[in-house]
Amino acid sequence: MSGKTDIKSLDLKELEEFLCAGGEKKFRAGQIYRWLHKKRVTSFAQMTDISADLQAKLDAECDLTVLRKEHLQISKADGTRKYLFALADNNMVESVLMRYKHGNSACISSQVGCRMGCRFCASTLDGLVRNLAPSEMLEQIYRIEEDIGERISNVVIMGSGEPLDNYENVVRFLHMVSDQNGLNISQRNITVSTCGIVPNMLRLAEEGFQLTLAISLHASSQEKRKALMPVANKYAIDEVIGACRTYFEKTGRRITFEYSLVGGVNDTGEDAARLAGLIKGMNCHVNLIPVNPIKERDYVQSGRDEVLNFKNKLEKNGINVTIRREMGRDIDGACGQLRKRFLER
Ligand code: SAH
Repeated sequence: MSGKTDIKSLDLKELEEFLCAGGEKKFRAGQIYRWLHKKRVTSFAQMTDISADLQAKLDAECDLTVLRKEHLQISKADGTRKYLFALADNNMVESVLMRYKHGNSACISSQVGCRMGCRFCASTLDGLVRNLAPSEMLEQIYRIEEDIGERISNVVIMGSGEPLDNYENVVRFLHMVSDQNGLNISQRNITVSTCGIVPNMLRLAEEGFQLTLAISLHASSQEKRKALMPVANKYAIDEVIGACRTYFEKTGRRITFEYSLVGGVNDTGEDAARLAGLIKGMNCHVNLIPVNPIKERDYVQSGRDEVLNFKNKLEKNGINVTIRREMGRDIDGACGQLRKRFLER
């Protein structure tokens, strides 16, 4: 960033403080906040009830973060839209819009790249470039709404990046996106997905949010998890499960476990039985996702039978399970595939 104030990352109170410190009246903050977060103008000059002097001053002191739609792919199979957005510094991030009967769901990125190193994931192949600012996370949603001319009702932070590796910005984003002066999305309709950064899971439990925490588990033993997810070397699977229990105790929110089924790696009956044992008695839900193969790795999807057997075994143990509908397979739907393909060109 330029060293100027990223005005779209300030919440209303901070915007008031910023303007008052510059000798402006407090009520200006509400006006400007509406321009930024309701009308989503792309320049200060469009703020027509603000004096030209103040417009010029804001322009000199602030960055007005706006993402540029670089590329859009629309799935012929299910209408899923995959966006590639360019940031002010020309880095790129992916976002996905999924349309369901119950509303529009946006899957957004929290970082450019990722440093978690999960073996099956395309987002992490070139490491972490940088964290996204709150404004850049909000903008992904604003520009999708503009593009489709409809409201977004659900947000999942499941695009590229590890949200709990960009903790402060993500928490600020969560406050702003659920704020009534902005998008006003119900926290119950927001999901944060993490690979299991235990200390920040525990911190998040104390923030007073009503959101859903999703854990990318993908294995039922420490040994197998380590082979798929390097983060397991730092935070063992038992600690992750312990943090999930604490999260539920503090928030009353049911945990979601994501489990990508990789053929011959984590999809046996033994894996399912061990998973059932691991999460027994927890108020939780398991989402099974046939792994989306990426060309850089030789992982394959589990067969239809393995997926169904896995699901049955969990259900016999009284665990809630769904098989995630694979959306956007024909449009580089897996995290980081589209950006990667663009960078390679
Ligand atoms: N870093 C966060 C959020 C981004 S990844 C996390 O780990 O949860 C979103 C989800 O997609 C995670 O569950 C991740 O493990 C999964 N994922 C990534 N690449 C995948 C692939 N090729 N096939 C299936 N799931 C994948």
